[in-house]
Order: sequence, then structure tokens, then C-alpha cells
Amino acid sequence: MEVVYLNGQFIPKDQAMISPDDRGFLFGDSIYEVTRWYGGYFFDLPAHAARFRRSLHETRIVWKDELKLEEITEELIHRNELGAECAIVYFQATRGVAPRNHAFPNPEVEPTVYGFARRHSINTLVCEQGAGLWLTPDPRWNRCDIKSTALIANVLPYQESHDRGYAEVCFVRNGIVTEGAHSNIFFVRDGTLYTHPATNDILAGITRKNVISAARDNAIEVVEEAVAADMIPYMQEAFYCSTTSEIVPATRISDQVIGEGTPGPVTRRLQMLLRDLIQSGDPRR
Ligand code: PMP
Repeated sequence: MEVVYLNGQFIPKDQAMISPDDRGFLFGDSIYEVTRWYGGYFFDLPAHAARFRRSLHETRIVWKDELKLEEITEELIHRNELGAECAIVYFQATRGVAPRNHAFPNPEVEPTVYGFARRHSINTLVCEQGAGLWLTPDPRWNRCDIKSTALIANVLPYQESHDRGYAEVCFVRNGIVTEGAHSNIFFVRDGTLYTHPATNDILAGITRKNVISAARDNAIEVVEEAVAADMIPYMQEAFYCSTTSEIVPATRISDQVIGEGTPGPVTRRLQMLLRDLIQSGDPRR
């Protein structure tokens, strides 16, 4: 039986009820977070918790139990008997329930806070072989730094890329590559890593942060500078990364083959460095 967290309680999922007046449902007035559990420990839970709190702060959603986030996240793993498995924990907070009106509820209402845990393992085949990205205009708002559940502008291009046989999108805004629909994008040229700086045009991915620090700790130069879409043909390697997919080599971006069309050496090295970093969090080591 799947157990979820809803508004202070752990309950069977089929008993979880959310009002149709919930602002998450009506407006997408809501934020979320996704963390990874590696059969015994979380990878960089403090960073995910900090980003969730930042999203709460930026959206002015007030959750009085925000300091319990880590505890609830771990409890979801154990209540669902996922302790020895690889899993994700999803966590969401909406501005709560009130008759539909753009203004914040007055008087204030409690947020709706929901979490679930689910078995999850990475697609090792795609990490091994690489995948294609679809180059497409970035149609999103200018607060992509907030991890909002209002994801229709991510979902529509992602579905189109999927229908065309690609694994992810490569968004372009004002001629420069921003990120994927649910990942950050890196390029490699002459041994140096390039990725969009952590501005309001991208989500500052936790995997992105860890890839950058693993690279720097191992003498791989990283430049947080956006790559122009018309420079893609001059890039020797590319990859996308996220909590749920780790590092996936991008072997093609639309019609452009990247490098030899196979995962490159810097990408391979970073995949190993990220693995090491993840495993270094294992308390049993
Ligand atoms: N960008 C976007 C738009 C995303 O949705 C995600 C996945 N949450 C990422 C980047 C990667 O972030 P993270 O490494 O924290 O999963």
C-alpha cells in the first residue's frame, strides 16, 4: 500500500483528497522538489531542502513546518519500505485552498503540502549510449529559477521532442542555449565545460552544481557562460543532467551530430566522477 504525506499526516494514497479549490490545481500556484534515495541514503538532501525553502520564499508560500522537510522525506522512504531500493521522493507545496481569485487568500490559509516516494532507477542504456536533444525556442517565463509546478511550457515542447524521437529538448532563448525541459545542459570544447550561468533563465540544478564542483575538484575547467545556439556545431561534447537521469551524453542536437556522435571522454569522466560523489554519501562506506 502506497503511503503519502498530506498536510501533516502519512496516509494511504487512495485516502488522499485535495480540494478542487486548491490554488495548485486552479493556478499552478505551487512549488515542488525531487530528491534521490540511493538504497540507504539521500544524495545532497540539504541542497534540495534549501532550494525548496528558496522556492517557498520566492513565491511567498508560508509553510510553518518547513524545517521538518528532511524528516518527512526520509519517513516517506521508510513508510513505503523503500529503504534498500533506489527511489525518488517528490514534495510539493501549494498556496492552499480558497475560492478562485488571483489575489492571495485573505485571511491567509494553510498551504497544501503533499509528498510521495516511488521506486526509481536511472536509464543505464541511455547513460551509456547517449541520446538526441531537440533544439527549440524556450517559451517559458522569466522566473525559471523557481521550481514551480506550472510546467505546461516545459511539457508541451518536451512532448513534441518525444514525438519526434528525441530524449530531451535543448531550449534556446535570444539565440543562446538555456537548459532542457527537465535538466541542465553542458557543452565541452577543448576540454573546458560550458553551461548557462545560474540566472533566472534556468533552474539551478543540484546535479549541475555537483557536476561543476566534481569537475573543478578534478582540474576540469568550468565556465558558467551560455553557449550560443549557432556555436553548437563547434562543440565537441554535450550532455544533460538532472537528479532523475544523472548525466546523459547528448550525441545529437536536432540535425547536428555532436563530436563523433558517441559519448565523449570528458562526459564519460564526469559520469564516473558524479558516481563517485554520489557513492561518497553512502554512510556504509
Ligand atoms: N532544469 C529544469 C527545468 C528541471 O526541471 C530540472 C529537474 N528538476 C533540472 C534543470 C535539473 O535539476 P536537478 O539537477 O536539481 O534535478
